[in-house]
Amino acid sequence: MAVPKRRTSKKVKRQRRTHDKLSALNLIKCSNCGEATLPHRVCKACGHYDGKEVVNN
Ligand SMILES: [Zn+2]
Repeated sequence: MAVPKRRTSKKVKRQRRTHDKLSALNLIKCSNCGEATLPHRVCKACGHYDGKEVVNN
């Protein structure tokens, strides 16, 4: 098995991890009930998508 020749420096470790951060979620308002939902997903609160009820609980 390959073994690293040198310990990764703090600088290199931190530089690599600058790409690890998460971006904020893009939330939209449901057109039926106004609840904040993810775009292109059925609304969790009322089961509507594209103005129609597609999930009935
Ligand atoms: Zn809704």
